[in-house]
Parts: sequence; structure tokens; C-alpha cells
Amino acid sequence: MSTFPSPERYDTMTYNRCGHSGIQLPIISLGLWHNFGGVDRYETARETLCTAFDQGITHLDLANNYGPPYGSAEETLGRILASDLLPYRNELIISTKAGYDMWPGPYGNFGSRKYLISSLDDSLDRMGLDYVDIFYHHRPDPDTPLEETMGALDFAVRSGRALYAGVSNYPAELMEKASKILNDLGTPCLIHQPRYNMMDRRVEDGLLDVLTQEGIGCIAFSVLSSGILTDKYLNGIPDDSRAARPDHPLKKRLNDKVLNKVRALNEHAQQRGQTLAQMAIAWVLRLDAVTTALIGASRPEQINDCVAVGNNLEFSDEELDIIEKILGE
Ligand code: NDP
Repeated sequence: MSTFPSPERYDTMTYNRCGHSGIQLPIISLGLWHNFGGVDRYETARETLCTAFDQGITHLDLANNYGPPYGSAEETLGRILASDLLPYRNELIISTKAGYDMWPGPYGNFGSRKYLISSLDDSLDRMGLDYVDIFYHHRPDPDTPLEETMGALDFAVRSGRALYAGVSNYPAELMEKASKILNDLGTPCLIHQPRYNMMDRRVEDGLLDVLTQEGIGCIAFSVLSSGILTDKYLNGIPDDSRAARPDHPLKKRLNDKVLNKVRALNEHAQQRGQTLAQMAIAWVLRLDAVTTALIGASRPEQINDCVAVGNNLEFSDEELDIIEKILGE
């Protein structure tokens, strides 16, 4: 890396307003679910993250249990902040979450106030931060009253541990209820984090309408379907890919039917002068309801490829029809 950070880092990235809030997020955000754990090569993680910041990616997405092992992605970010990024803390939106399995016993999972606040304190310790920008409840908890979980998010914000509250994986109806509770508490929900990509379109059945109605932003995760919507699996599974790991669930998903669609999409992307990864990102961003596309990356080149989506974000109606036809086959 020559001069870090690049003085041009804000020149090409587009920033979208997140719902009705004061926050703008880059159209590409980087998630640390994979490739930033204790098992991964630290220098590659550091280069990938610094490349992202250099390209105007100001939003980094974490969760308490990202790794493996659990917690180690937050520790990796803590190291990179200490060595490179802490002087730029005010230029970063850092999020974390709690809601999935984290520690043994009845207080290390789901949505109690006890779990959420203890977990957030641990996350702050691991990252070496005084606060996160966004704290999420990671998934719905059918057994904890929604008021308790939303009350914990409100407390996280009021106590200064987080600046904004978010939820992830909430279906439309529950999202609406959660939003009302948070509004009544005076801590409006900033953002929702659902899965959304060409092969998983469940959010189109109501959730995105609720987000627009409530003025909540949307950060779509797995926009590349964990790598399937790229050109990497077109000629088999490369050794250095996620799917090459023993018993990885991606292997099962890479069947002929899916690969035929990916090939056809790849051809169409080429006709648009884009890589398939870029077209898949542009496609989720075509909707006004989507604030930012949350990608994962295992190396700096993938970041550079993905951010180049900014060169072509537009689709004609004809192009969208062609994509619909491919997806429907
Ligand atoms: P993606 O669908 O973006 O897949 C990322 C993977 O695609 C990369 O790790 C890499 O695979 C491959 N890839 C990325 N860019 C390129 C490229 N330009 N060319 C070729 N291959 C590429 O997302 P993830 O499923 O990883 O999820 C992204 C983030 O979303 C997570 O880190 C996390 O922050 C969040 N998330 C949230 C969830 C929730 O419940 N809230 C659940 C899941 C994810 P490889 O590593 O094999 O090189």
C-alpha cells in the first residue's frame, strides 16, 4: 500500500441515505462473517479491509459470533483498527449483532435483554471500541417479548454503547411491530438486514414495502449468494474458495440447474460490460428501498471488482426482462 488512506477515497463511491435518517451508507458495505476469523490469514484480512476503506467503503458489518472461532472477526477488526483505521474512526460506520448462539447456558442466545447487553459489552471489548454505530438484534426470538428485545436495543443506544438500532431477518409483520415499539421508545429503527439476491427474493413479498413505509433503510446480505452469483464456480470449485472447505453447504447448492442459470446470467453480464458479481450487486441496488449491498470478500481483488459496479448501475426494462426469464427457467 502506498499512501494510506488514499486522498481520493471518496471520489467515486456513491452514498445512499439510510431510510429517513441522517446517515448515508456506501452502496457497497463489507461484512466480516467469513475470511476475517482467527483461522484466516491476518495479513490478507488487513489488506482486504484497508482496500475497502480506500475505495470509499465506510461501513463494516460484524456480529458477535463471526469467526471462526466465535468472536475472532471482532478481534481481527480490533487489531486492524489499532494498526491502521483508528485515526479514521469518525469516518466509519461499524455494526455488530447478537441473536444467534454465542456462549453456553440460557443467556447466550436469542433475544433477552441480559444476552443482548452482555454480548454488546463483550463485542466492544474485542474491537477495542467505546461504541458501535449500529447494534442489531440478529434474528427473531419467538419466546422473548418483542418489547424486551426492542427495549434492550433502546437501552444500548441510550447508554452510549451504540448510536443506532437495527434488526436482521425479521419478517414483514414482525418488522412493523418492532418499528412501532422502537418509535414509541424514541429510538427509531435505522436499518433492517435481510438476505436478498437474484436467487432469494422473499423480501419482495412485503418486507421492502414495510421498510419504505416506516422510513427504515435496507442493507441486503449475501447479494452474491455467498459467491454463486460470480464467475468463480463456472469451471468447477476452486481450491481457495469457500465451497472447497470440507462439507460446506455451498457444494450442495452448486447443482447443474443453478450453474446453468449462472452461466446465462454471466453471459448477460458480459453483454452489459460487467462481471457477474457487479451485475448481481447492481440488480439488488435497482430498488430504491435497498440502501446498500453487503458483500463478503476473501481478498482485495474481489473488493476492487465489486466496487466497479458504480460504472453501470442502470438496467433497461428489456435487460430486466431477460434476467427474469433466466431466473424463471
Ligand atoms: P456474498 O454473497 O457477498 O458472498 C461473498 C463471497 O463471494 C466472498 O467471500 C467470495 O467467496 C465471493 N466473492 C466476492 N466478491 C467476488 C468477486 N468480485 N468475484 C468472485 N467472487 C467473489 O456474501 P456473504 O454470504 O459472505 O455475506 C456477506 C455479509 O453479509 C457477511 O459477511 C455478513 O456481514 C452478512 N450476513 C448477515 C447475515 C445475517 O443473518 N444478518 C447472514 C449472512 C451474512 P470466497 O470467500 O469463496 O472467495
